[in-house]
Amino acid sequence: IKYVYTWGAGKADGDGTMKALLGGKGANLAEMTRIGLPVPSGFTITTEVCTYYYDNGRTYPKVLRSQMEEGIANMEKIMGYKFGDAKGFPLLVAVRSGARDSMPGMMDTVLNLGLNDKTVAALAKATDNERFAWDCYRRFIQMYGDVVLGVQKNPDEDHEPFEHVIESYKHEIYGKDIIDSELTAEDNKELVTRFKDLVKSRTGHGFPEDPWEQLEGAAGAVFGSWMNDRAIVYRRKYGIPTAWGTAVNVQAMVFGNTGANSGSGVAFTRNPANGENELYGEFLVNAQGEDVVAGVRTPDPVAGMEEALPAAFKELMKVRKILEKHFRDVQDVEFTIQDGQLYMLQTRNGKRTAAAGLKFAADMVKERLINWQTAVMRNPADQLDQLLAPVFDVNEAAKATVIAKGLPAGPGAASGRIYLNADRAVIAAEKGERVLLVRVETSPEDLRGMIAAEGILTSRGGVSSHAALVARQMGKVCVCGASGVEVDYEKKTVTAGGETFNEGDFLSIDGTAGTVFGGELATEPSEIITGLIFNKKSSQNTEKYQNFVQLMEWCGKATRMGVRTNADTPDQVKTAVAFGAEGIGLTRTEHMFFEGDRIDAMREMILATEEADRKKALKKLLPHQRKDFFGIFKALEGKPATIRLLDPPLHEFLPNTPESQKDLADKLGVEVEAIAHRVHDLHEFNPMLGHRGCRLAISYPEIAEMQARAIFEAAAQCVKKDIPVQPEVMVPLVGYARELELQVEIIHRVAEEVKAAKGVEFDYLVGTMIEVPRGAITADEIAKHAQFFSFGTNDLTQTALGVSRDDMGSFLSSYQENDIYPKNPFASLDTTGVGQLMEIAVEKGRSVKPDIKLGICGEHGGDPDSVTFCHKLGLAYVSCSPYRVPVARLAAAQAAI
Ligand code: ADP
Ligand code: MG
Ligand code: MG
Repeated sequence: IKYVYTWGAGKADGDGTMKALLGGKGANLAEMTRIGLPVPSGFTITTEVCTYYYDNGRTYPKVLRSQMEEGIANMEKIMGYKFGDAKGFPLLVAVRSGARDSMPGMMDTVLNLGLNDKTVAALAKATDNERFAWDCYRRFIQMYGDVVLGVQKNPDEDHEPFEHVIESYKHEIYGKDIIDSELTAEDNKELVTRFKDLVKSRTGHGFPEDPWEQLEGAAGAVFGSWMNDRAIVYRRKYGIPTAWGTAVNVQAMVFGNTGANSGSGVAFTRNPANGENELYGEFLVNAQGEDVVAGVRTPDPVAGMEEALPAAFKELMKVRKILEKHFRDVQDVEFTIQDGQLYMLQTRNGKRTAAAGLKFAADMVKERLINWQTAVMRNPADQLDQLLAPVFDVNEAAKATVIAKGLPAGPGAASGRIYLNADRAVIAAEKGERVLLVRVETSPEDLRGMIAAEGILTSRGGVSSHAALVARQMGKVCVCGASGVEVDYEKKTVTAGGETFNEGDFLSIDGTAGTVFGGELATEPSEIITGLIFNKKSSQNTEKYQNFVQLMEWCGKATRMGVRTNADTPDQVKTAVAFGAEGIGLTRTEHMFFEGDRIDAMREMILATEEADRKKALKKLLPHQRKDFFGIFKALEGKPATIRLLDPPLHEFLPNTPESQKDLADKLGVEVEAIAHRVHDLHEFNPMLGHRGCRLAISYPEIAEMQARAIFEAAAQCVKKDIPVQPEVMVPLVGYARELELQVEIIHRVAEEVKAAKGVEFDYLVGTMIEVPRGAITADEIAKHAQFFSFGTNDLTQTALGVSRDDMGSFLSSYQENDIYPKNPFASLDTTGVGQLMEIAVEKGRSVKPDIKLGICGEHGGDPDSVTFCHKLGLAYVSCSPYRVPVARLAAAQAAI
């Protein structure tokens, strides 16, 4: 088996399509080589080796070593240097991890590998640059010692051990802090000695001198890091399968630290925060790449490179065009300039905020780089709601004082209580507080805290710092590098603009502008909301709004499946329709019983023991319901409305405290005991599986009768007013065909009565929810009485899993940690289990009624993965809450493309 794939000098074994085998970095290094870009030669050890490693008790395939030797030989031939050469210029390599996507928690890169006491002298001689050679060696021991040998900060230490050695050395010799590039050859030599001592005292072994031992050690550390805690946490959060494994890249070093004509940088081909078409990134003269992201020296904006290294900058601008044209997407690149010559070290599709992604896609269609279908695919459905997220209220922001400014790294507005460490941020967020995580800079250890926080503020680090990258990816509001913010971890205070804030105090950050405000600031809705829903002209003139509307139009063109909404009021209907909903998939009628004094009539109905009394009470409810339905029909302007008959158990409507019972007794003129007694009678041990859904109307058919009458009389009113209507009456919780049959009889009879009485005609459908397993597997029998099915996946999940949605909090996290639930099954459809019940129901339903209308109205209707599943099932529509409609439309369009 081929475990090693080489690239260099315009040729490569692999290419950009081979990310599964070569990892993202390796595949794209091969691809960049193939299209003629200047990439230092190297090879990739495939992800199959990682799999082998874990399947075989952490050992390697036998042939790997000889294939790696061939890989090194190939690099030696192309570069003209020898690995471990103690006489001439030694070939040094970078060992770089390479999962399919870059993953925080994976081993950091080790640069300058291959140096030892002999080769460092050879390097100094060959380059005639002692400072440079010993700078490389010092860096190498530090990186290797840290990431491969595990010489890291103990919990009781304040500093990284290597940094500590450097700092004390600087103070010892210079009496102050100087930057690393100012260290002389002699300084670096002395530091190498001290570093080696540190390694020896920490690990009990000397620093490995043999380049091959170094190489195998570094490769092993990459594979080993696949299973470290941070990597596991990250994979769980992003649903990355453990089985994917990581690759390892070994690449010839190029040096950005040879002097003033060299440097390193990172850049995006366009601005990943706001989408502007401009090169965006950071750059440092006389530095190796790690310096740019490490936050030790603050890098310059990449534009500054034009002055410092004009020829290389011009080259970089050319490469930028080539890359975008080739990959047809915005690229995030890493590069190094060695003595004026540009080298590309990495490219990948740039992570972006939802707002930038929207603009990239729209612009690239205009530039004819991509077609509209690709543009639709480029907008991640699960990030779309970022665009709908609020911004600071303009007036409030104008009044508030800016206490610091930083870089706008993750757009949006966030206001919250500050916490200075991840654990405390998590605890506060669990208590329901809105949290801002404030750090000097973040590292992968802070990931949990960043997930818990509304926003992230750092005082150091640029737009490619860890905080910025992670925030963009998670869609968190982020301001980074706010140097005016002083963070004191010990005192747990943040000082800025002359004010001091304690943990728990409010700060507000605007990640679009990069500003920090003291205190809590109110927010206002996004332009998309105000433009679409409130028809605000100034919002509609913004590019963001127009790009969004354009995207939704494309979605409409692509989609097969419709999107409806779950709405109970005309206002909700209007919002959803503005977002493009094609109708109502679920109106929950029970909410309608709580308004004003209707609840009294409802309670009177429940308290009644005789049918006649019940009917009398229901009669009072009828006009209210009719009015509600009329309002909804009118707001829908002829779009279909699925209305579910009463579902929850009756005791939910009854007063439960002695005071409220007394109150009701007075109102109804009955004894309070009678009410207490009835409440007691209705008590259920397991209301979810109790007297609810169609069971209510089986016992009390007059309830269904009243609701049907309200629906049809409202429809008749519409017809009289020339308002088109399409009512769809839905019977809940059906498990037996006979249950539905009994309800359908009532509904049809009432419809005929209303038509006759009002002298009008209207069309309507009667159908049922499929939400208990028996209903799903006897769907052929049920379909005989139903014109449509709507999957009630909330209940279907509860009943299929035997898990109560309201009681799962106590074990959900252990179920996720143990990989039992890949995701919360109430948020994202359990496609294997619940999904199979749906498949059965679809098949059986269609076997009886080929054109039966199928939809879904559970929470899952707004979850992109579940929407994709529904598309594959062939459902006619999904239904979700109004603000999820755009997400569902995008997911439905993507499923169809
Ligand atoms: P990450 O995935 O964390 O970005 P990389 O493997 O890309 O790690 O390496 C980080 C940095 O190390 C790069 O941005 C680059 O500056 C530097 N680097 C990597 N490979 C080389 C190389 N062959 N020559 C010089 N510098 C390199
Ligand atoms: Mg990189
Ligand atoms: Mg239900």
